[in-house]
Amino acid sequence: MLYVVATPIGNLKDITIRALEVLKEVDFVLCEDTRTSGNLLKHYDLHKELVSFNARMEEKKIDAVIKRLQDGETCALISDAGTPAISDPGVRLVNAAQKSGINVVGIPGANAAILALSIAGLPTDSFIFEGFLPQKKGRQKQLKKLAEEDRTIVLYESMYRIEKLINELNEFMPNRIIAIGRELTKKFEEIWRGFPNEILQSLSEHQLKGEFVVVIAPINWK
Ligand code: SAM
Repeated sequence: MLYVVATPIGNLKDITIRALEVLKEVDFVLCEDTRTSGNLLKHYDLHKELVSFNARMEEKKIDAVIKRLQDGETCALISDAGTPAISDPGVRLVNAAQKSGINVVGIPGANAAILALSIAGLPTDSFIFEGFLPQKKGRQKQLKKLAEEDRTIVLYESMYRIEKLINELNEFMPNRIIAIGRELTKKFEEIWRGFPNEILQSLSEHQLKGEFVVVIAPINWK
């Protein structure tokens, strides 16, 4: 059995009872960073074998993990934050597990994109999730394509490029309202809303550190 378990995106209380039960029961836990996940497990007094499983080593470790699962062990896949396999490692492992006939069970919970959508006040009936835009090659092309998109768009962005992204949105889609969720579920959580140029004008009032989700309204939405 492979469990794909969502963990908090900031506030350690955002973990389900079922997730804690599964983490307590499994034989081992696959995680991106053993220190980060070690702190989470320690907080809940859970003591498990932690096996590091990050994007760089996913491919190499799959066979060994599948072998342990076939030998009857149970495992939980978690990531540093939120739902595994969503802009995080896990897709290839889940694919390999499905192909090998191993039971895959998801334990739902925190996800930054869905949380931001739920508080952005922008249409949610139809949206696209693009994760992180390419950092260099293909970024402009992708922005041009997204400028034609008539559904709500959800993006992840790091603090190193958030100002750049708002400038790009001002260039490529100046008439679309955006909502930026910063440090959601954490102590200094906030949401900024407005047209890209309004947000640019008020940037000096905002902290550009932390984690960001950007939600962009559909074309012509008021
Ligand atoms: N698997 C995660 C999920 O379910 O949301 C996403 C992992 S992705 C590597 C990390 C990105 O998610 C961050 O760079 C940021 O864009 C977004 N993110 C994660 N936690 C966040 C938070 N507390 N507030 C705002 N954005 C967050």
